[in-house]
Amino acid sequence: MDRFHSKGKKAYNPETLALGYGYDPFLSEGSVKPPVFLTSTFQFRSAEEGQRHFELAYHLRPPRASEVPGLIYSRLNNPNLEIFERRMAAWDQTDEGAAFASGMAATSTLALTLLRPGDAVITSAPIYGGTHYLFEHVLPQFNIEASFVQAGDDTPRLVAEAADRLGPERVRLVFLETPANPSNTLVDIRAVADVVEGIKRRSHKDCWLAVDNTFLGPVFQQPKLLGADFVVYSATKFIGGHSDLIAGVLTGGLDQVQAIKLTRTILGTMANPFTGWLLLRSLETVSVRMRRQAKTATKLARLLLKHPKVRNVRYPGLLEPGTNQHAVFSKQCSGPGSLIAFEVDGGVRGAQACLNAFEVARLAVSLGGTESLVEHPMTMTHSDVPPDELEKIGVSPGLIRMSVGLEHASDLARDLRHALDAIP
Ligand SMILES: *Cc1c(COP(=O)(O)O)cnc(C)c1O
Repeated sequence: MDRFHSKGKKAYNPETLALGYGYDPFLSEGSVKPPVFLTSTFQFRSAEEGQRHFELAYHLRPPRASEVPGLIYSRLNNPNLEIFERRMAAWDQTDEGAAFASGMAATSTLALTLLRPGDAVITSAPIYGGTHYLFEHVLPQFNIEASFVQAGDDTPRLVAEAADRLGPERVRLVFLETPANPSNTLVDIRAVADVVEGIKRRSHKDCWLAVDNTFLGPVFQQPKLLGADFVVYSATKFIGGHSDLIAGVLTGGLDQVQAIKLTRTILGTMANPFTGWLLLRSLETVSVRMRRQAKTATKLARLLLKHPKVRNVRYPGLLEPGTNQHAVFSKQCSGPGSLIAFEVDGGVRGAQACLNAFEVARLAVSLGGTESLVEHPMTMTHSDVPPDELEKIGVSPGLIRMSVGLEHASDLARDLRHALDAIP
């Protein structure tokens, strides 16, 4: 058995792998749980072993059969991160994972590995604010052009048109976020993957598809199985799940993720060992948490639908059968998640009166934690989006976003009714 304890990976489901895979207790005094490896550096048994470890770390030669990368220094690798990365890769059914200091560290390290001056990237919109800033304001400083296309039923066609306009040989990355935030609009990942294949065929160059899977993954959506090359997460959200850490992770093919890990080593965007340990603890319960949160969210969404002060409810679990969005949901998501967006009467004032009246749900941005959170996209998470854009992406003055946690469903239902009743 190697130190990754990797025997039998394929035989088990990710929930099971999250409890043991990638860790050999007998390398740590029989400790059933991985210790926190709070060390900056790792001792070599011999000078020759140190040499071999560095040869692999800097890709100076291919690994020999059954040779695994040795531990060197915690900016390059650390057991807590490695175990987490292997379990995430198993969850996403990809080869390899890489853990980062934040979701933004994952996305920016991915972009700086794949993109070169003159290249272009096509991104669905709306997209997470930090991602938008990176593509809109940072990458252009390196002569990398970003094109944003509306998330929704037309996204595959819009990506193809944008590629024609930019020149297919320049488009090296297509980056999607689905469901979109806060509108919960879905993008058909498989259909965009087909468009990306077409771009590659025409340009005879690599073009990668990355999907930000923060909202539904890893439990309810597996973008790799739908044709994505990279699955990217803010692990701060559901994976961490307790609103007590900032981290990111991405998974994908072996060669590509190894290249990204080399960039991570040089930029220093890795997560720290204690965060890795917390992520391992959290990953053990991510399936239980997300399923329970989705169940409660479904109840609350139905309650919202019936309330006289609520104008519309955007929740993947309430999509109308027969619509294209419902068809996409049915084929690519195995659950609706626990983010609900709903519009209340009375515009900003109505929304603020409602938000101020919650007693159980906390008034805070972020999502995916054990506690329920509510926020006002227009004046908070999306306050830097220009007014005409806001309307296009469905952020109206009365829109509230709720991340449903693990409180008792009836307490949350009462809290929600109480908050809605506070709208003048
Ligand atoms: C929070 C978030 C991010 C950024 O993650 P950080 O961990 O805060 O850097 C990226 N994408 C989505 C969808 C998010 O919700």
